[in-house]
Amino acid sequence: MSTSPNIFLIYTGGTIGMIKDFETGALVSFDFDELLLNIPELKQLDCNIDTISFSSPIDSSDMNVDRWKELGDIINENYKKYDGFVVLHGSDTMSYTASAISFMFENLAKPIIFTGSQLPIGDLRTDAKENLITAVQIAALQKKGKPVISEVGLYFEYKLLRANRTTKINAEHFEAFKSLNYPSLAESGVHLKVNTSFLHTVNRRKKMVYHTHFNNNIVIIKMFPGVNEDILKSIFSLKTVKGIILETYGAGNTTTKAWFISLISEAIKKGIPIVNVTQCIGGSVEMGKYDTSVALKKAGVISGKDITTEAAIAKLMYLLGENLPLKVLKTIYETSIRGEMSEN
Ligand code: ASP
Repeated sequence: MSTSPNIFLIYTGGTIGMIKDFETGALVSFDFDELLLNIPELKQLDCNIDTISFSSPIDSSDMNVDRWKELGDIINENYKKYDGFVVLHGSDTMSYTASAISFMFENLAKPIIFTGSQLPIGDLRTDAKENLITAVQIAALQKKGKPVISEVGLYFEYKLLRANRTTKINAEHFEAFKSLNYPSLAESGVHLKVNTSFLHTVNRRKKMVYHTHFNNNIVIIKMFPGVNEDILKSIFSLKTVKGIILETYGAGNTTTKAWFISLISEAIKKGIPIVNVTQCIGGSVEMGKYDTSVALKKAGVISGKDITTEAAIAKLMYLLGENLPLKVLKTIYETSIRGEMSEN
C-alpha cells in the first residue's frame, strides 16, 4: 500500500472552473471533470488525490451559511480518511468561507487549504495551475508522518496565508489577497519555504470538534461621515438583529454624537453584542486611544482588535450560534480562538 499522503480535493465553484457562456459572454461554472482534464500535472504529484464537487458549483458570491455547512460536512465526514484537504473556491468570498471553516473545526489537526484563481484554468495565461498544484503540495507536506500545516490556509500567488487573516484586495492582480496583520505561513519560490514559527501549533491529543451552528441574524454597519440617524435607528430597532458589527474609522473611532452613543448602549443593555472592527485593512482597534472611542468602550462594545471584517462576521455568527450569555461571548470574542486576532 502506498504511503503517500491522501488528499481530498473539493470543488465548490469559482473562476478556476468557469467558461464563457456562449450567449451572454459572462463567466459561468462548468463541469469539474473538465477542470481536472485541464490539469494533468496533478497525476505527477507525490500524493493520492480523490475529488468531489458541489452538485451545482457556484460563483462564490452565492455562498451562504448553508453552503458553509455543506462544505464543512464534506470535510468532517472525510476527516479521518484524508491527510489534507484542498478547497477550490471563488476568490470573491473565499476569505469569508475560509474564516467560517476555521471556526467550524476546533482542534483541527490537518491542513484545509483554500485556493482559486483570477483566470479560468483553460485560459492560456491562467494563474490556476500554479495555485492548485502548490496548494495540493502544501496540503500533502508531512514531517515524521504528521501534517506540517494544521490549520485553515489560503494559497494564492506564491503565498500561503492564514485564511482567517486574509482579505481580497484586488479584482485584477494575480496577487488578490493580503494578510496585513499576520505574516505569511509559507512562500513558494524555487523552494517551498515554510515559516514554521508562524504556524498554528496543535495539541494532537485533543479531539477535533465540529461546530455547525451559525446565526446569521447580524448586520454590519460601516461608519461614514454624515451617517443618518433615522436610518441607523430603524436598523437598531429590528427585532431580528441579534448582533452588530461596527466598521469604524482608524483605531476604532466613531462619531461622538449623543444619539449614536445612546443607540449603542441601549442595544448592548438589551443583550445585543456589538463588535468594533476597523475599516482599515491593517492595524488594530484600540478603544480608549482617542476620545472618539471612549464612550464605545464604556458602553461595553466588544473589541475586534486586528481581526478582518470577514473573520469578524464569521466569528460573530459562530459565537451567536453557540448561544452564550453576552458576557461570555464578549470574553471569547476578544480572545484569539483560531489565530484570527493578535493576543493583546
Ligand atoms: N466571481 C468569482 C467567484 O468568486 C471570482 C473568482 O473566482 O475569482 O466565484
